[in-house]
Amino acid sequence: MGYEAIIGLEAHVELNTNSKMFCSCRVVDSTNSEPNCHVCPVCSGMPGALPSINKRAVEIGILVSLALNCNIETTSIFARKNYFYPDLPKGYQISQYEKPLATNGHINIGDSQNTTKIHIRRVHLEEDTGKLVHTNDYGKTKGVSLIDLNRAGVPLLEIVSEPDIRSPLEAVNYAKELHSVLTYLDVNSGDMEKGVLRFEANVSLRVTGSKQLNARREIKNLNSFKSLQRSIEYEIEQQIGAYKANETIRQETLGWDESNGKTIFQRSKEHSHDYRYFPEPDLPPINVNDEWKKEILSNMPELPHTKRSYFSSLGLTDYDARVLAAQRSIAEYFELAVKLGAEKNPHVLPKPISNWITTHLFSIINEVGKSIDQINIPPNHLVELIDLVHSGRTNANSAKIVLREVRKTGAAPEIVITKLGLEQTNDQATITKAVQQVLDNNPDQLTKLLDGKDSIVNWLFGQVMQSMDGKSNPDIVRTTLQDAIKRASNKRGAQ
Ligand code: ADP
Ligand code: MG
Ligand code: ZN
Repeated sequence: MGYEAIIGLEAHVELNTNSKMFCSCRVVDSTNSEPNCHVCPVCSGMPGALPSINKRAVEIGILVSLALNCNIETTSIFARKNYFYPDLPKGYQISQYEKPLATNGHINIGDSQNTTKIHIRRVHLEEDTGKLVHTNDYGKTKGVSLIDLNRAGVPLLEIVSEPDIRSPLEAVNYAKELHSVLTYLDVNSGDMEKGVLRFEANVSLRVTGSKQLNARREIKNLNSFKSLQRSIEYEIEQQIGAYKANETIRQETLGWDESNGKTIFQRSKEHSHDYRYFPEPDLPPINVNDEWKKEILSNMPELPHTKRSYFSSLGLTDYDARVLAAQRSIAEYFELAVKLGAEKNPHVLPKPISNWITTHLFSIINEVGKSIDQINIPPNHLVELIDLVHSGRTNANSAKIVLREVRKTGAAPEIVITKLGLEQTNDQATITKAVQQVLDNNPDQLTKLLDGKDSIVNWLFGQVMQSMDGKSNPDIVRTTLQDAIKRASNKRGAQ
């Protein structure tokens, strides 16, 4: 009997507003700031303190919801979700419950051949909790838990999908698309290791072909795509085991232990009535009219899927289009380079630009840990360099050196090539001489090659390139070398 996995994801997105959701405390990077320095009576839950709604957070919520094709509700209402936990000083979290900000959206995942629509049930606003720090290293006291309220009250947007996801990989693709949309909209840094975007995975199984939804288990606080994927894979295995052993799956909440690759039982699932939700008496409803929606919509940038289809229309593969569109800064860099190429260097086509970005620029980006607009290689310099390689002024090998010098000095590629003497040698006579020299110096290798050890040709090629300081035209070197080998072979045959 085959089983099918049914997966629904909840995403918690911290919004990068200036101030918190219901007070004027600053939103700071809670992984990198002095604890409890951005706290006031409202976000520390002092009795009698009155919250007020952060308008910017609401606007961001609407912007994200529109990007996710949701229906924005004309009226949404905050409620109190009552529960006790040490990181929640008020004893309740202000969240939207019966009347969320937006409902009924979707995003598409997959590629142009094979698209899957994942529906979004709801998007609602709430506030983050404080942060507990468990430590064994606090003065002379061992094993203490500390509380940092800098994060308490930071605006959170919760995005809840329908259980439309069918595999761990689809879950990751959905999460990546969401990550992309949020960073395009510039409402979240996307730094998942800092916990600003966290996922919860709801997983159940059913017999393939059945329409029934079975009890699910929920894995909390997944902070990376890797743990999202691994935890769901693990949970599916667990549930298959349980079904086979005829055990009943109960609704439960689990944690994920990344280092051991295991889920940990946390609690049997609470139900919404356990939270005694009721409308927040200290906050008015949010009313969204068409005019406000239109104004927000007018600030919508182009989204990843639009960029992807544009890049595909330029002749890129689905894979390349996806890689280049994943980050807005890279997508915009690529677009500008393509535009400059079309205007000034018509030999420089989208495909080579894409290759140069995904190989050479990505390797520099990884090396220095900066974004594409911070590495000091503007699109016009890249395009000019590709053109210079195309026209034979320098070769691809030297171009890598040129790129690094451009980055260091900001000088144009043409100037760097002259300054470093990296012009390509295209002269046939010089190359023929270098090839002959290498063959004369390595008679044993040549014999082995003629005896059938074909791979030696690459070694000889490398020797010729090296003997010319890597500056010769590799295409001419290759054909010249092949001709010389053929001649040597004919000569041997004739003996
Ligand atoms: P709650 O509000 O109690 O967390 P919801 O019904 O709103 O529960 O669902 C929360 C998440 O669980 C949603 O993402 C939804 O898609 C997912 N989900 C609901 N039922 C199932 C199921 N049987 N299997 C897997 N996921 C489910
Ligand atoms: Mg949940
Ligand atoms: Zn505050």
